[in-house]
Amino acid sequence: MVGVTRPVVLLGSTGSIGTQALDIVRRAPDRFRVVGLAAGGDRAQLLAAQAIEFRVEVVAVAKASALEDVQLALYAEAQRRGYDRGDVALPKLLAGPDAAAEVATWPDADLVVNGMTGSIGLAPTLAALDAGHTLALANKESLVAGGPLVTARAKPGQIVPVDSEHSALAQCLRAGTHAEVAKLILTASGGPFRGRDRKALDAVTPAEALAHPTWDMGPVVTLNSATLVNKGLEVIEAHFLFGIGYERIDVVVHPQSVVHSMVEYVDGATIAQASPPDMHLPIALAMAWPDRVAGAAKSVDWTNASAWEFLPLDTDAFPAVDLCREAGRRGGTAPAVLNAANEEMVAAFLAGRVPFPAIVDTVARVVDEHDLVDTPDLDAVLDAETWARRRTTEIVAASS
Ligand code: MG
Repeated sequence: MVGVTRPVVLLGSTGSIGTQALDIVRRAPDRFRVVGLAAGGDRAQLLAAQAIEFRVEVVAVAKASALEDVQLALYAEAQRRGYDRGDVALPKLLAGPDAAAEVATWPDADLVVNGMTGSIGLAPTLAALDAGHTLALANKESLVAGGPLVTARAKPGQIVPVDSEHSALAQCLRAGTHAEVAKLILTASGGPFRGRDRKALDAVTPAEALAHPTWDMGPVVTLNSATLVNKGLEVIEAHFLFGIGYERIDVVVHPQSVVHSMVEYVDGATIAQASPPDMHLPIALAMAWPDRVAGAAKSVDWTNASAWEFLPLDTDAFPAVDLCREAGRRGGTAPAVLNAANEEMVAAFLAGRVPFPAIVDTVARVVDEHDLVDTPDLDAVLDAETWARRRTTEIVAASS
């Protein structure tokens, strides 16, 4: 695709992935052109500034109540940049819970970057696939909640991973055939509580959990990194992206976050992908896949001494990976229930309503109580999520 400017729609444009994806467009304006943006609506000024800077055709906000703020911010931003009313066509505005899915099908787009957080990203993912667009997927919950639905709709190569581990795996998988793969090995930083035992985790605070040692991410992903739920969700994500059985997907703790994941082949070779922790690299590679974007991020500095450690995961203190793998094996609605319960528990912990270990313990309980639907359609997935959120809220209310 070198030489062609790709029209891009960006979902979750004001979040961590979204703002970094726009950095890539700024660095490579000959390769990408932003035609549409979607965001929750809480950061109206930023969204308006993005829309005017990139002269997009359409802007969507999930919260209908934010529409007026965005509209006013658009006029203010256009004026601030010295445009008269006639100089710049303001984008079409869409609002409401289905607006992101509508932008995901925007006919002028070729590539959709889904940088939304949470299982609300599933419907836009399905919409982008149905529209025939390439999907650069950072929203792992799409695959966790709706894995079989998403993979059934995707043509080969239509989904490109953005998550750093899965980008690393995709790169390492270029070194052999599918039949030659022995194992996928996902690396985990271990989060801020690596090395603590289960007992010591009772007292940790939201502020401690939100201070990630190596990665700068949104609050939900950061919290999920502290519980290791994020790594468990990534095991499920890897299973659906690469068609590898759960028994052949391992997790190893690597505190430096320089090796982003590895593929072990049947002859004993392990191929690893290494780069300093910076999401610009996997985002740029996903947007240009299979091409690389020169200068997307810094490379490893080999002139300074450094050491890379690899440690087994403490599954007693951090049972989340085993829990996710088990939910993945059960399949059907189990991973969707797990994810929805976790989103509720993260909110409860950040609000100071439950202790840290209660997050994963409660998620396990809700998954256990759930009546599994083996081959759900989208409505059955959404029903299972609604049940999981209600049940989780009940358990939290009863405990406080
Ligand atoms: Mg990741």
